[in-house]
Amino acid sequence: MAGETVYSFASGQTPLPTEIIEAVEADILNRHRGGLSLLELPFTCDEAREILRDTELGIRELLGVPDTHEVLFLQGGAYAQFGILAMNLGGPGRLGAYVETGHWSRRAAHEAKSWIEVHRAAQGDGTRLPPSNEWHLPASVAYCHFTSNESADGLQYHAQPELAGVPLVVDMTADFLTRPLDVGRFALIYASSQKNLGIAGLTVIVIAKSLVERCAERVPAPFHYGLQVRERSKVNTPPLFAIAVAGHVCKWLAARGGLGAAAERSTMKAQQLYGLIEEGGFYNSPIDPASRSQISVRFHLPTQALEAEFLAQAQANGLLHLKGHPDVGGLRASLYNLVALKAVEVLADFMREFRRLKG
Ligand SMILES: *Cc1c(COP(=O)(O)O)cnc(C)c1O
Repeated sequence: MAGETVYSFASGQTPLPTEIIEAVEADILNRHRGGLSLLELPFTCDEAREILRDTELGIRELLGVPDTHEVLFLQGGAYAQFGILAMNLGGPGRLGAYVETGHWSRRAAHEAKSWIEVHRAAQGDGTRLPPSNEWHLPASVAYCHFTSNESADGLQYHAQPELAGVPLVVDMTADFLTRPLDVGRFALIYASSQKNLGIAGLTVIVIAKSLVERCAERVPAPFHYGLQVRERSKVNTPPLFAIAVAGHVCKWLAARGGLGAAAERSTMKAQQLYGLIEEGGFYNSPIDPASRSQISVRFHLPTQALEAEFLAQAQANGLLHLKGHPDVGGLRASLYNLVALKAVEVLADFMREFRRLKG
């Protein structure tokens, strides 16, 4: 962070720890070795190959990705994957089941419609997530798609779904690498990088080899999972800079105890804010406690006028980007993996003080 201390709770781009920004700075200025800056490396050179390998290894080790799964580095963001995954896994007569629980999963289902027949497996009401035993799956579906954290709505699945015999596909953009995961249960995990893995430009795909074999033929080459697996994410120029930043994020997480410790930090951060919400009377949440997100903490004040005042005063105190998603209004603090506990403590102190003055 540069200049005066400010804290960002933005949903669209995570703040980064100083150590990571400094590591990236060293890569750019190439203080470590002679030769080219990170910004100048062609993707075909040995250093670039090493960066791709390091980041892949970092993700594999943190998540415990088994040999049954490939890791791909693509572009276009999670939104592009909504269509791309349906292009790869769809085809005539194929059915994709979608669990529609909020803003992002609705978009995922909508985009998929051009490539696969969409069946709605479940529909949330915006306050509670339907558990997997309430999902309705027809006899033969190509896959079942859900969104682990609805960042606009403030909802998060805390239990991993139990599905037998159906390839499970998950948009994990908002809570990727924030907790341990049994990767073997998923056929396809995807996440764009700007929320928990650094900066925008990279989309990570973790895909079961058995699913790769079932991909359709007619998919643009840079989006074709099978081709990208064969070419090790180098069908065309990969986003090397974002991949290098992601590598630093992985090292940072590994040095701090891996995903078990990340999950503990997440719980601690979220509790700072939910504690205030649970005290009631001033801050409130419309969301069922069992479905509340530890990553996207949504809250409301008694009136919209108070919410506007809260936002203005928060900003004046260096607490930035707390406006809720336009779909649902109110306020939202995004507590991605790299958001410091200290930032959340400062926000909680501000919230207590604001309540004391206005409540
Ligand atoms: C932010 C977000 C997206 C959109 O990601 P882009 O990288 O902007 O395409 C998709 N899904 C979820 C769950 C998100 O939180």
